[in-house]
Amino acid sequence: MCLICERIETIKKGGNPYFVKELETGYVVIGDNQHFHGYTLFLYKHHGEKTELFHLAPAERAKFLEEMTIVAEAVSRTFDAEKINYELLGMGDAHLHWHLFPRISGDIENYGNNGRGPVWWYPMEKMYSDDNRPGKEELAEMKRKLLDELEKLL
Ligand SMILES: [Zn+2]
Repeated sequence: MCLICERIETIKKGGNPYFVKELETGYVVIGDNQHFHGYTLFLYKHHGEKTELFHLAPAERAKFLEEMTIVAEAVSRTFDAEKINYELLGMGDAHLHWHLFPRISGDIENYGNNGRGPVWWYPMEKMYSDDNRPGKEELAEMKRKLLDELEKLL
């Protein structure tokens, strides 16, 4: 089972502390590491053979993209992003999942092109440092605020 399928199983059992909300096509979760404050993921509900957007039937794809966009807007409002960065990658786990990064100027320090550029120009060991994992109370607060904004948009 892939890591994302495992996380979804934990959500279904009620034991995933990062879980925010279930939508029709996926699950909204706060990212484990929060160097980019408000980093959120939207996990597609199914895995199997559907590992590309072009594998989804048009209506399903449209719904998945629409819901991802709503999540992005909620993330932007909640965490005061200057810009949202959207990533759908899948070389770690092919399971369709969006990374939604709220970006603000200076958030990659002087890495990249004098501090400008994608999140992956920030060093991985800093991005995934245990120092930027949210504490229990901070996580609860982030989830509550994001859920409030999501529910306004749904
Ligand atoms: Zn999976």
